[in-house]
Amino acid sequence: MKDKLLDGYERFKQGYLAENRDRIHTMAETHTPSCILITCCDARLEPSLIFDTDPGELFVIRNVANLVPPCEDEEKPGFHGTSAALQFAVTVLEVPEIIVLGHSRCGGIRSLVLDRGELQPGSFISRWMSIVAPVADLADGDKLDDPETFHRCEKAAIGYSLENLMSYPWIAERARDGRLKIRGWHYNIYDGELEQVSQ
Ligand SMILES: [Zn+2]
Repeated sequence: MKDKLLDGYERFKQGYLAENRDRIHTMAETHTPSCILITCCDARLEPSLIFDTDPGELFVIRNVANLVPPCEDEEKPGFHGTSAALQFAVTVLEVPEIIVLGHSRCGGIRSLVLDRGELQPGSFISRWMSIVAPVADLADGDKLDDPETFHRCEKAAIGYSLENLMSYPWIAERARDGRLKIRGWHYNIYDGELEQVSQ
């Protein structure tokens, strides 16, 4: 039986892995990514393809709609996966840059807008998206078929995430003294355009 992923793995093993064995061994000895990329789970986003990077260069944190939750008390109920990944990359690996990469046609932002930012019972997605609930108010209810409506909300959500990054004391401290650079980008999955987003 054909298995697309295992067939792909065979090609990887005989191609890239065989041709780059020394580089991969060197990379395995150290973990020194140059950038933390916080992006969406969306399958249409492939960071290493978009930015032409090699394994080991990007520390990628993926979640629904590339959100950064605010820094919360670790005693508070919940599992802080994104916060844990950030803490490891910033305080242990001392990665010098964070990029929040949002994108067009984001399903997470779309569901937030269509739910008007209201919590939906039993929905992990709406609970998660409530991190940027005010973004829903930026959508013009009459223009939900206009991509611009969603672009505006996607970019605003990136702004909130950039703001939330600064609520982590170990990020704010490094950003202030210049050890950490922070940027926001919006990627259009239809035409490949990349746009800078500020806070
Ligand atoms: Zn998305």
